[in-house]
Amino acid sequence: MKNRWDAFQVSTADNENVVGLRVSSSKALGADADLVLHGGGNTSVKGTLDNVFGQTQKVLFVKGSGWDLKTIEAAGFPPVDLDYLLRLSELNSLSDSDMMKHLSLALLDPKAPTPSVEAILHALIPFNYVDHTHADAVVAISNSPNGAELLSQLYGDEVLILPYIMPGFVLAKQVAEFTANVDWSRLKGIVLLHHGIFTFDDDAKTSYDMMIHLVDMAEEFLLAKLPIAELAAGAYTPDLSDAAALSELRANAGVLFGGPVQLRLDCSSEAVGFAALPNVESLATRGPLTPDHTLHTKAFAAIFNEDLHAGLSQFADRYADYFSSYASDHHQCLDKMPRYGVWRGKGLIYFAANAKRVEIVRDIVSHTVKSIQMSEALGGWQTLPFKDLFDVEYWELEQAKLKSASVRPEFDGKVALVTGAASGIGAACVELLLSQGAAVIGLDRAAEFKDSSTSSSFLSLQCDVTDSTALEAALRTGVLKFGGIDLLVSNAGSFPLSTSLSAMTDAEWDSSISVNLTSHMKVLRSALPYLKHGFDPAVVVIGSKNVPAPGPGAGAYSAAKAGLTQLARVAALELGQFGIRVNTLHPNAVYDTAIWSDDVLQNRAQHYGLSVEAYKTSNILGAELRSVDVANAVIQLLGRSFSKTTGAQIPVDGGNDRVI
Ligand code: ZN
Repeated sequence: MKNRWDAFQVSTADNENVVGLRVSSSKALGADADLVLHGGGNTSVKGTLDNVFGQTQKVLFVKGSGWDLKTIEAAGFPPVDLDYLLRLSELNSLSDSDMMKHLSLALLDPKAPTPSVEAILHALIPFNYVDHTHADAVVAISNSPNGAELLSQLYGDEVLILPYIMPGFVLAKQVAEFTANVDWSRLKGIVLLHHGIFTFDDDAKTSYDMMIHLVDMAEEFLLAKLPIAELAAGAYTPDLSDAAALSELRANAGVLFGGPVQLRLDCSSEAVGFAALPNVESLATRGPLTPDHTLHTKAFAAIFNEDLHAGLSQFADRYADYFSSYASDHHQCLDKMPRYGVWRGKGLIYFAANAKRVEIVRDIVSHTVKSIQMSEALGGWQTLPFKDLFDVEYWELEQAKLKSASVRPEFDGKVALVTGAASGIGAACVELLLSQGAAVIGLDRAAEFKDSSTSSSFLSLQCDVTDSTALEAALRTGVLKFGGIDLLVSNAGSFPLSTSLSAMTDAEWDSSISVNLTSHMKVLRSALPYLKHGFDPAVVVIGSKNVPAPGPGAGAYSAAKAGLTQLARVAALELGQFGIRVNTLHPNAVYDTAIWSDDVLQNRAQHYGLSVEAYKTSNILGAELRSVDVANAVIQLLGRSFSKTTGAQIPVDGGNDRVI
C-alpha cells in the first residue's frame, strides 16, 4: 500500500487551519481505491469555533453525507457540536431516524450537509484526527473462516478487533462499551469485522501513516497466500451474437427494474478469468465484500449460462425468496434486477439505472472478485449472514436516500446513437442527450474523434457510416458498453459545392448519394436488431429544407435528401409494429455545422444575390439558426412529447416562404 502523504500536501497556510489539513489527508486516503470506493469510509477532525456570544465551542468536523473522500473539500466537513454528540452517546438507545434528527440539530452551520451516520463514533474516539476506511485487504481477511483470529495474530493487542454490528448509533455504543476500560494511548487502530478499520491520532500524519501501515500488513499477509499472478485470468472476444443477446437481456432487466437500464459486458482478463472458475456460482452468490455494497451490487450475483433469460428469472426468484425470508411488514421489496452477473466463460455483466452507476458497480465488483479469491486462499470466502446484509440494504436511512433521488431525468438509462457526432447538429444532440441523462454512442469519420471522450456516459468511435462492416463493429462496441440502443439520430451528411447537372461528375453524384442516402439505410439496418429491444425506441432522421424546396445547383444533395425522406417514411411504416417511431426534421441553413464551410456559404449567398449576413437570416422569422435549435427539436421528437407521432416531417428553418 503506497503512502501518498507527500503527494497530497497543500500549502502550509492551508494546513494551519485544521480542516485544511483534514481535507488533504482525506484526499490521500480517497485516492486509493483499495482503501475506499465511491463514498465509502469517513474522516473527522476535532477543533473549536467561536460562536456569536464570544464563546469558544468544541467542534467535530466530520465527513458530510454525499461527499466522497477522493474529491472532498472543506465544505464537505460540517461543523457539529462535539459536546452534544458526546451527550447523545450516553443515551441507552436512539432510533436511526432520531439520530439523524439530532445530528442535524447538532450542526453549527444550518447550510452544511448532514453529518455522517458515524459522527457519534468519531466523537467518542479521544483523538483529534480519526480516519476510517473499508480497506479491501482487512475486510478480505475478515471474510474468511478464521478471520478474527488471523487479524488478532497479525496485529497483536495494539489493534482492537470488534465483531460486526450495523453502522449508526448501535455501532457507536458498541465501540464505547469495548473501549470503556481501554488505555487509548496503547491502541493503534480498531478493526470492525466485515466492515473496515479506524486509525486515530492527535497528529494527522501519524493517523494516516498508521492506516497505511496496518493495511499494508494485511496486504502483505494476503499476498504471501495468493500472489497477484495467481489470480484468475482469461480471454474472450465477444461477437455480434453476444451484443444481440445482451440487448435482449437488457429489455428483460428493464422490466424487473421498472424502466430503462444500462448493461455492460466486462471481458477484461480478470472478469473472464473469474467467470471461468469452476465454483464461480457458489463464490458469486455468498455475499458482498462489505454490507454497504449491497446498496450498489445487491447481496448476490446472477448466474448466466446459455439461456440469459433463465438466469435473469432465477435471480428474480432468488431475490424474492431473500426478501420474504428477512422482511418485516413495513418493508417494501426493491426491484428484482441483479446488479451484476457472471456470464460463464464470457465475463461479467453489470446492470444499473445509468452509465455512471454501472461504473460504480464495475469498480465495486472488480475489488470484490479479487478479494473473493484472496479469502478463498485463506480457507474460504465467508461473508456476513444474509440477514445482516438485508438489514443494511433495507436500512431506513438508505431507503430514505433512495426515495429522495427517485425522479429520473427523461433520458436516464437510455442509450442514443448519434451519427456525424463530432460537430454541428450531431455534437449539439450529443450534448443535450447527455445533459438529460442518456448514454451516447457517437460516430464520426473525423480522425480526431477517436476516443475523444473520457466520460462514463459517452463513447466516441471513429467510423465511416458508409462502411457496413465498420458500422456493425462500432455498434457492437457501443452495445457491449451500454447494453443496447433506444434512440437513433441519423445525422451524418455532406453538402457538396454547387454543381449544375450539366457539370456533375459521376463521382460527385455517387458520393452524395452514398453519404446522404445509402449510409442512413445502413445505419438503420445495423441498429434495428437493438432498437427492437429498446425502451420506447425512436429515430430522428435529419433531412433538409431542400426536400420541399430544392435549390438549383444542389441536385446530388437534394435528390439524396428526398430519397432519405422517403426512406424514413417507409421505415415508419415497417417499424411501427415494433413500437419504433421514425420522424424527419428538415433544417435549413444551420451555419454552425461542418457542411457550411466559408466557401459553401459564400457560394450559396452569391447564388441568391445576397450578402452572407442577409442570406443567414433569410427566413420568415429573420432568425439565424444554430445547431442547438435543431438539437432541441430532435430531443423533443425522441422524447415523451411526441410519443404518438411517427412518419412526420417537421421543418426547423425559421419559416420558409418558398414552402409556406
Ligand atoms: Zn464504514
